[in-house]
Amino acid sequence: MSLREQLCEYGRRAVELGLVIGTSGNLSVRQGDLVAVTPSGVALDRLTPDLCPIVDVDGYLVEGDQQPSSETPMHLAVYQTTSAQAVVHTHSVFGTVVATTLPELPPVHYNALLLGGTVKVAEYATYGTPELAANVRRAMAGKQAALLANHGGVTIGATLEQAFEATRLLEWLCEVYVRGLSVGTPAILSDDQLAAVVDRSLNPPAFPRRTAC
Ligand code: 13P
Ligand code: ZN
Repeated sequence: MSLREQLCEYGRRAVELGLVIGTSGNLSVRQGDLVAVTPSGVALDRLTPDLCPIVDVDGYLVEGDQQPSSETPMHLAVYQTTSAQAVVHTHSVFGTVVATTLPELPPVHYNALLLGGTVKVAEYATYGTPELAANVRRAMAGKQAALLANHGGVTIGATLEQAFEATRLLEWLCEVYVRGLSVGTPAILSDDQLAAVVDRSLNPPAFPRRTAC
């Protein structure tokens, strides 16, 4: 699948899964110096490959008639400072609830490790601005995800599929935490408990083989 075809595929899935509504959210995927990005103001389930612009990592438009997403500076800031090859930004409900209410998403489930543990909420700045890009870059340091205060969430990955799965996981973790807060006080995993998970995943015990009798 070409980079632009990938944007159409995952854009459709983002709408189907309710991760975005209207024209909110944007996706990008990188190859070398070039980045295919969703166009600004087009619903993600209405994309066609020719609608998706291509920019270079410095932000110059290389191909396409549409304007690149207004959040292109945020996507490029991430590419300039991480090894990510794809970025997914949505306004998913539970992610946005956490991002409007709390300073961070604490690790209430061990799968939070897949996003780097605690997910930080980047300080609020107007959408599309270099300030928002800088805030996200700071919150994202060493992580696969960040939340954007009063706005939504963003995840990265080595492929668009991975970045998209990270967005689904971020939304699931936010939902677990928010629903947990309505039931009681969610327990937060300690550093020791998280270190034990890392150790376990690096050294899984081998099942003993049954010998034929
Ligand atoms: P674009 O349509 O320009 O990508 O903007 C959507 C959005 O989510 C802004 O933060
Ligand atoms: Zn947005």
